[in-house]
Amino acid sequence: MKKQFLRERECIHRDEDAPGEFFNGVFYVQALGRLKIDAAMSVANKVSPFFWVDAPHIMVWLCNDCAAELHLDDAPLSFVKSSRRQA
Ligand SMILES: [Zn+2]
Repeated sequence: MKKQFLRERECIHRDEDAPGEFFNGVFYVQALGRLKIDAAMSVANKVSPFFWVDAPHIMVWLCNDCAAELHLDDAPLSFVKSSRRQA
């Protein structure tokens, strides 16, 4: 039997039944990197930590508020839109 390497992390609001969803660990790390250090620390303090090299194997559950703090909702879409406009 193969071992299951996919691991899950979550923000502290999951215990409060807040609405949210899973994000790829790589997106989470990239989103953190786009924030200012203060904002990044604020979000990182709410999510169980993991080694960034493990990010490809990790799914991070974020409530809607934490996802918004990371701009995970709008960043990819607006990027696609603006790159299409230039073409
Ligand atoms: Zn949260």
